[in-house]
Amino acid sequence: MDFHQLIFMAIVLSLGALVFLWAYYSIRLKRFEPTSSQDRVFRCKKCANLYTDDGDVDLSRCPACGDYNAPFHF
Ligand SMILES: [Zn+2]
Repeated sequence: MDFHQLIFMAIVLSLGALVFLWAYYSIRLKRFEPTSSQDRVFRCKKCANLYTDDGDVDLSRCPACGDYNAPFHF
């Protein structure tokens, strides 16, 4: 193996390491990105408390006073 082959191998190995690190950190970043919430916002008619509940709930119970409320539309 001559000098030029050694240089070529070093460059190929460095580029391979860079590609590996780039792929590793992109996968890592994707795993920690926040997922969009499907929760709905509710505003209590009785005590004006603002709170959220699951997206599939049509009538949600107020955690402050216990009254049932429809989802709040902006
Ligand atoms: Zn309430």
